[in-house]
Amino acid sequence: MPGSAAIAAGTIAGPCHSVPNQSTWVDSPVRDGAVLIGDAAGFNDPIVGQGLSISLRDVRIVGELLLGSDDWGPALFAPYAEERAERMRRLRFAARLDAVIHAEFGPEATARKLRFREARAKNPLLGLAAAAVMVGPELVPAEAFTDEAWAELMAV
Ligand SMILES: Cc1cc2nc3c(=O)[nH]c(=O)nc-3n(C[C@H](O)[C@H](O)[C@H](O)COP(=O)(O)OP(=O)(O)OC[C@H]3O[C@@H](n4cnc5c(N)ncnc54)[C@H](O)[C@@H]3O)c2cc1C
Repeated sequence: MPGSAAIAAGTIAGPCHSVPNQSTWVDSPVRDGAVLIGDAAGFNDPIVGQGLSISLRDVRIVGELLLGSDDWGPALFAPYAEERAERMRRLRFAARLDAVIHAEFGPEATARKLRFREARAKNPLLGLAAAAVMVGPELVPAEAFTDEAWAELMAV
């Protein structure tokens, strides 16, 4: 039997679980009596592989807040909620950029990928947001994560 016929006659193995490339988040990870951390508080598109970094930073921040006070009310965790919201917003931006440039298919997407590479060779600061996954989102200038920056990237 030729290979293609053998494949066509094959039996589908399964069930096969897949992980969608998406981000999730909650408006606030803090409620009276509960603080969400890690994936439970919202996870980043897996394309940039930040899950453990995010979770461990959550653990560090929340752990230090708990150790620094005996008043464990929601107000104690406000700095965590604020930092996490901006951290995840920046990581969503970086992951979306990665997905659009590197994980879309078809002639249009391929042409955009090539245009982006050429433009970046001329201007290494183009798409600086992508550096967030390597150095940490807080170390990249805020201007890299604006709507204007996104529009500029998509206009390449
Ligand atoms: C296929 C895949 C590939 C990934 N690759 C990477 C990668 O390359 N790099 C990276 O950094 N991250 C990666 N991640 C993401 C990373 O695994 C997660 O972000 C990270 O494990 C989140 O940690 P967590 O402690 O929040 O949640 P989890 O690791 O999911 O831990 C939650 C735990 O709670 C337990 N639990 C749930 N409900 C209950 C209950 N009611 N009672 C008691 N226990 C309960 C679960 O069994 C689980 O053990 C990947 C994820 C997937 C799915």
